[in-house]
Amino acid sequence: WQRTHSGVPAVSNISEASVSKLPSYWRSLAEKHPPGLAGSITTLAKSLGDLFLRLLKMVTVPLILTSLITGVTGLGSQGNFGRMFRKTITYYVATSILAISTGLLLVNLIKPGVGAILPGGGKALEPADQSLTEIIYQQLNRMIPTNPFAAFAGGEFLSIISFAILTGMFINFVGGEHGRQLKNFFEAAFAVMMKMTAWIISLAPIGVAAFMVYATATQGLSVFQTLAWYMLTVFLALLFHAAVILPIIIKFFGKRSPLEYARHMSPALLTAFSTASSNATLPLTMSCVEKRAGISNETSSFVLPLGATINMDGTALYEVVAVLFIAQATPGFDLSVAQQITIAFTALIASVGAAGIPHAGLVMMAIVLQAVGLPLESQGIIIAVDRILDMCRTSVNVWSDSCGCAVVSQSEAS
Ligand code: ASP
Repeated sequence: WQRTHSGVPAVSNISEASVSKLPSYWRSLAEKHPPGLAGSITTLAKSLGDLFLRLLKMVTVPLILTSLITGVTGLGSQGNFGRMFRKTITYYVATSILAISTGLLLVNLIKPGVGAILPGGGKALEPADQSLTEIIYQQLNRMIPTNPFAAFAGGEFLSIISFAILTGMFINFVGGEHGRQLKNFFEAAFAVMMKMTAWIISLAPIGVAAFMVYATATQGLSVFQTLAWYMLTVFLALLFHAAVILPIIIKFFGKRSPLEYARHMSPALLTAFSTASSNATLPLTMSCVEKRAGISNETSSFVLPLGATINMDGTALYEVVAVLFIAQATPGFDLSVAQQITIAFTALIASVGAAGIPHAGLVMMAIVLQAVGLPLESQGIIIAVDRILDMCRTSVNVWSDSCGCAVVSQSEAS
């Protein structure tokens, strides 16, 4: 501990013996950071940031479980909605896949993570040597837990997701009094988890500030340059999806002028941007679609709430760019097509599972990171810029829902 940092004599009087008595977590921090005031601030910032990450991790499993079960039970057993349901789901899946493809393309073209050094992450990995079929088989295996409770305890997201979806489906099949009770139970549990997540998210400014201090103290200002490329990639990809892909869809399948429709939707899009929450914007989205764009309540009351829950083009695109950015910055990480397909597939699931609240996409990113074996800690620095990206991706999420509403309404009318 008596070493010097940048030629300045160590001012700390903590002896090596006292460092060795510290609990292991603090000891590793004390050994890694420079002594003195700067060292203490860096250590404190890292610890605060880590506590915030722990809180995020804490809610992830219960949030995924309750969110997916309520999402599936909310769909009902289709009944009369069968036709509209199929059209809506087709639109949602298709546009999410298009958004993911745009993200994949741009992140591979711009390569924002190549050469970047991420504080807290970027551990060298053994290059994976697996064929696509092996990876698919492995993922399928992970989707079927032999013991769901072990999957919960171990945070095995793919297993949790498939178990949650099956549970939701079978609650609907059982129906009756039992089905209703379970549906209510999971809805109530979901409401509690959403409240808890919102509370944790309200602590984000502290977590973000802590990560910024830690990142600049350990990496210098180059970290901002790295993040600038990452942010630019997300922005460009979102812009392409919102201003090129979705307008083409609305023109050809919705038979409307994209510009005029965007004007109709502008109050909702601006609210989505400022609140970063599809859920909070939903009432306004419905009123814009019905009152300003003249779409029937029958269509909007089905398509929009479903969209606010499961259709998140912006989030899916963001997950892909963020995880590939981290992957590019991780030495030795295998960026093969097979790995990228895994990322794309899990990003789709993560976007379906993400709740329509601020930073939900960030919480869900754990699913994608885990699927390709990246450490959750590598998220650290991108949390710092998540708010602005969240505002943009939420506007794209709401814009896609609105376009979906116009497309379904047009096809119902014809
Ligand atoms: N904030 C987004 C939304 O409400 C979800 C996300 O974090 O990506 O649509």
